[in-house]
Amino acid sequence: METSTITKSAASERAVPFSGSESLKRKAKELFEMPLLSLVQQAAAVHQEHWPEADVQRCSLLSIKTGNCPEDCSYCPQSARYATEIENHPLLDVDEIERRAKMAKAEGSSRFCMGAAWRKPPRGKQFDDVLEAVRRVKAQGLECCATLGLLNAEQARSLKAAGLDVYNHNVDSSPEFYSKVITTRKFEDRVATLENVRAAGLEVCCGGILGMGEEVEDRESLIAFLASMNPHPESVPLNLLVKVDGTPLAEKEDLDPFELVRAVAVTRLMIPQTRIRLSAGRMNLSREAQALCFVAGANSIFSGEKLLTTPLPGDSFDDRLIAEMTGKTGKSHGGAEPN
Ligand code: SF4
Repeated sequence: METSTITKSAASERAVPFSGSESLKRKAKELFEMPLLSLVQQAAAVHQEHWPEADVQRCSLLSIKTGNCPEDCSYCPQSARYATEIENHPLLDVDEIERRAKMAKAEGSSRFCMGAAWRKPPRGKQFDDVLEAVRRVKAQGLECCATLGLLNAEQARSLKAAGLDVYNHNVDSSPEFYSKVITTRKFEDRVATLENVRAAGLEVCCGGILGMGEEVEDRESLIAFLASMNPHPESVPLNLLVKVDGTPLAEKEDLDPFELVRAVAVTRLMIPQTRIRLSAGRMNLSREAQALCFVAGANSIFSGEKLLTTPLPGDSFDDRLIAEMTGKTGKSHGGAEPN
């Protein structure tokens, strides 16, 4: 099994397990404990220093293969283990992916992301099709991102050679909390893939999900881990749990939106140069809460009607929100840096 071989060798060479340094955890804790107003003011100042253009990048994400995933991620309606109402479909035809990329560009996205519900990409025609899809997306002049599950070093290099810019692979939560939401792979499996992605010369998009029942300490530890990555991820998606009927986390209590604002601000202060993306869960946030996230340092969103299988506010909502936040049209102004 190629994945576990990579994992074992990567894990055995690592002196410190995947928990970020103690000093970074302490720093995250201090920041999380600040009064919200002071925290947001500090984060806004750092944000302005590093992102003077004050833009909001918008990205589109297409599920190119939906559902029937063998993994057991407790939050995910695409796991074959849970009875959910999503419509599964096999890998989309490359022509259809190209058509959707053209539509996303016409609607203002500067980046096109493709997601497939796999534990890891299968060898053979399906992976070859993904490589061809990457080439066609790039031919549109779009930045191209993919999230396909665990990658070995050879797959990462093949994606890079096809033109892929960025690979998304979230660590989901803290190293300490990870096994409470996923048992079919380990935190270190995720880290091994991130190492393969970086070694192939791809940019890294890596973040997590808040509101899965974790403690504040887990949010501190998650951000400390992200801040311990060297180099830092070029982008950090912060998701709020979307509770989907049939999944084990369907009944979790809603997280206070201020906790997301805090997480955005702490991420901005600890990783000043990353794009922070509001991702899943925006449907449950008011416009005002989203605006506060932008003040605290978020500067990217997934836009459109859907994020893989869960709903997004939609293009007209995003057009208006971005226009009000940035004074620009909300169309076609992705940032200087992808993701
Ligand atoms: S999050 Fe990804 S790996 Fe986990 S069940 Fe869903 S599709 Fe599979």
